[in-house]
Amino acid sequence: MSSTTRYRIAPLDVHAHLFEVRCTVDDPAPDGQRFMLPAWIPGSYLVREFARHFVAVRAEAAGKPVAIVKEAKDTWRAASCADPLTVIAHVYAFDLSVRAAYLDATRAYFNGAVVFLCPEGRAGSACEVDVAAPHPAADPGWRVATTLARAGAAEFGFGTYRADNYDELIDHPVEMAPFALASFDAGGARHDLAVTGRVRADLERVARDLARICQWQTDLFAGAPGGRAPFERYLFQVAATGDGYGGLEHRSSTSLLCRRDELPAPGDARVTDGYRNFLGLASHEYFHSWNVKRIKPAAFIPYDLARESYTRQLWAFEGITSYYDDLALVRSGVIEPASYLELLGRAVTNVLRTPGRHRQSVAESSFDAWIKFYRADENTPNAVVSYYAKGSIVALALDLTLRLAGSSLDELMRALWRRHGQPGVGVPEDAIAAIAGELAGRDLGEFFGRYVHGTEDPPLAELLASFGVAFHVRAAVGTDDRGGKPGKTASSVATPASCWLGAKVTGGAEPKLQHVYNGGPAERAGLAGGDVLVAIEGLRASGESIRRLLERHRAGEPVTVHAFRRDELIVTELTLEEAPRDTCWLTLAAKVVPDVRARRDAWLGIATA
Ligand SMILES: [Zn+2]
Repeated sequence: MSSTTRYRIAPLDVHAHLFEVRCTVDDPAPDGQRFMLPAWIPGSYLVREFARHFVAVRAEAAGKPVAIVKEAKDTWRAASCADPLTVIAHVYAFDLSVRAAYLDATRAYFNGAVVFLCPEGRAGSACEVDVAAPHPAADPGWRVATTLARAGAAEFGFGTYRADNYDELIDHPVEMAPFALASFDAGGARHDLAVTGRVRADLERVARDLARICQWQTDLFAGAPGGRAPFERYLFQVAATGDGYGGLEHRSSTSLLCRRDELPAPGDARVTDGYRNFLGLASHEYFHSWNVKRIKPAAFIPYDLARESYTRQLWAFEGITSYYDDLALVRSGVIEPASYLELLGRAVTNVLRTPGRHRQSVAESSFDAWIKFYRADENTPNAVVSYYAKGSIVALALDLTLRLAGSSLDELMRALWRRHGQPGVGVPEDAIAAIAGELAGRDLGEFFGRYVHGTEDPPLAELLASFGVAFHVRAAVGTDDRGGKPGKTASSVATPASCWLGAKVTGGAEPKLQHVYNGGPAERAGLAGGDVLVAIEGLRASGESIRRLLERHRAGEPVTVHAFRRDELIVTELTLEEAPRDTCWLTLAAKVVPDVRARRDAWLGIATA
């Protein structure tokens, strides 16, 4: 049994964004102790080379310096020594994302994978961490929010925390700030909501809504009301900023980044688009407490943090989670069915606007996440399908298919939880198809072959019709149409004659071609992703002028385009084409037979009158 690895992390200089991180091994390896840093963080499938933010590393023992050399990009080796050995690193932390570390005078945050070295041969050793306050204390209101087990620290206090091993150590991010706090119970566990940032929000309301969503998810996996959560305590760490968005799942917490105006203002009872977005994100990460944190791809047991860990199953771990994130909002009664169908319509629209779905399957997208989905560029929509977006649509199709066969995706999740939810029991690459077949009472190999390993679109219109939901498509209107039912602005141009440029245009005043779609008008005219539109038909280009132009022209008409690529002017003729009908919206069918209504009510959790 090796000794406990002892860590200490302290803000060294908040204005230079530097942490000082110490790692002490009492009985270092006799021939020189190696220390490694993960190259990626579980949940975010990109090799990020966190060691690049280690700006200074030294070692000492018994108060004297010990030689330490770098052996690889992420590996250091200290000279042989008999005394307890401490490595001291200065780590630059100024990345606001949920997968890294951040430090300034207002806030400190870190993921263990970014700051804590793992001594070679000791990944299984117990860990102790002393979390120190900024010095000098920038703000006396600073507290600590983490689900690391306390080992001397007061609740929400600085001091000592512990973990059973390195894997556990790096799965409990730590927030240090003068955060606002709200608490609620769900699944027999205490849940805390710690919100950092300049925000004025009704956190009690957020806590009430999250409690319903969390209890619904717990009951889903338990298979009965009153289900117990798979942890004793859970923490939502929320950083609210001007325009942030992101989340990362952990075994008993999640870090969320949201826009401060997404949180409900005191006294506002509406479920705004922004608040629904926030609840969907929180719901997504909470669902991961089961689906990926406990039910894991076999390929992740254990994680190889030095290099890519390949699996073709991210469509299930992210796609099924993306399906349930919004579904949990309607099933728990936090949003109305019509509101849910609006979200679902947007999700379908997102997939329909991705021609890359004809090139890449969601299984392939899962496998290549490391070099494709996580490294999006101007060509991504042509070559890549999102295992989140299409994965959620495949999950919907699977749920409806299973329901028509007398089962459901809920049953499949419970089977996965029962059979593969215990520590060390992963999900083999073909297990989900096998369980789905068992539940359906027939082989679903064709379903998985076409929609998971193949590039076909699931037959959503047909499936949804069996659940009393009508599937509509129309052409997009303007450059920022997210989908949904055509309103009064959309109706005038949502005609078969609507035309398009064959590109995704961003930026209102200075429109830029973010993506140019293969085979479309812009590509044929020689335009490329990144080109900045200057004028069309001799008039200054803007988001608004493009919308008007598309309204007044017809497919087949040529227009003259002036654009800049880098600093070089391009003048070209672009022939407009009929816009694809890639904008979907869904409605509850007005008249449905009792069978269909019963299926719809069960699927959406509508209480029967
Ligand atoms: Zn996720």
